[in-house]
Amino acid sequence: MSPEIEAPHATQPDIWQGRESLSLHDFMAAANAAYYAGRDPLGARGDFITAPEISQMFGELIGLWFADLALRAGVGANCAYVELGPGRGTLAADALRAMGQGGLSPPIHFVETSPVLRERQRAAAPGATWHESVAALPEDQPLIIIANEFFDALPIRQFQRTGAGWRERMVQRTPPAFTLGKQDCVADIPLPLSDAPLGAIVERNFASETIATDLGKRILRQGGALLIIDYGYEGPATGDTLQAMTQHRFADPLDAPGTRDLTAHVDFGMIAALGRTLGLRPQPCIGQGAFLTALGIDARAAALTRANPARADDVKTARDRLVEADQMGQLFKVLALRHPDWPVAAGFA
Ligand code: SAH
Repeated sequence: MSPEIEAPHATQPDIWQGRESLSLHDFMAAANAAYYAGRDPLGARGDFITAPEISQMFGELIGLWFADLALRAGVGANCAYVELGPGRGTLAADALRAMGQGGLSPPIHFVETSPVLRERQRAAAPGATWHESVAALPEDQPLIIIANEFFDALPIRQFQRTGAGWRERMVQRTPPAFTLGKQDCVADIPLPLSDAPLGAIVERNFASETIATDLGKRILRQGGALLIIDYGYEGPATGDTLQAMTQHRFADPLDAPGTRDLTAHVDFGMIAALGRTLGLRPQPCIGQGAFLTALGIDARAAALTRANPARADDVKTARDRLVEADQMGQLFKVLALRHPDWPVAAGFA
């Protein structure tokens, strides 16, 4: 069978490159790099679905959030629309359309490593500029940065408290299993957690911390804000949040690396604390349901239903999925960090 006609789930990349053991961080980084490079994982026929793929209302409300903030900050369209890991570009397309109706067309900058997804994004947002990393973002204008389900895909490290001290969790190749490293890792444990009970697991996401710090410094120099929407918690906290998804089901994270989506919950407490230390203003972390409700999702749902009464049930189902507490409304959280001289961002009332 030629590679062109293989099913998306058929190929198993070799993430091991001759090695028998990797830290969980290196395992997750290699598995996700292979996973995202080779496929579009989104949508009903893929592995998972995200808020912008559920309804146009999500991106539209974020577009209005962006426009409101840029206009009240007095920068108008002289402010880049930045998105981290834009997936199919659906959020950006909906956001930019909503902004365009209000006369605002900011320059578009995407940070994306996957060539497959870059192609999808090119079709959705033809005028965008792509970057491999946040370091390459423009330096001459304010940045309003959106990250929906981006930070959860970055590789975590996990540490476990043992009788001998804190040890890093490793992954062995055959048979696939977690093991523990030999080095003492107490220096990597946040101070409030260092006395956690035996067996406790602590996660650190140094990649997220580095990206949030780099972006925070840019916002301080250039003006702007960072909006993070993801599933997560307000640490410091213990717990193992690593998960794998394939075809909309949870799977064993160690099985078939590179063919399923590996994620971990985002520590919003850590990112807010980093921002505060840098001099940014974090707004209180709230649920996605409360955020979208404050931005007016019910009015938008009513307008869509009036425009097309035959779609009333679909609009209601999508609205409930995004907002209700037993669906995405509580598990998904929203954090905004802004320049200290910028106005308070909408949606957090
Ligand atoms: N934000 C989109 C897609 C979420 S999936 C949505 O809500 O639908 C995660 C996205 O992050 C994908 O676009 C993936 O290719 C990208 N990504 C994952 N790791 C990345 C990295 N290290 N650098 C840049 N982009 C990355």
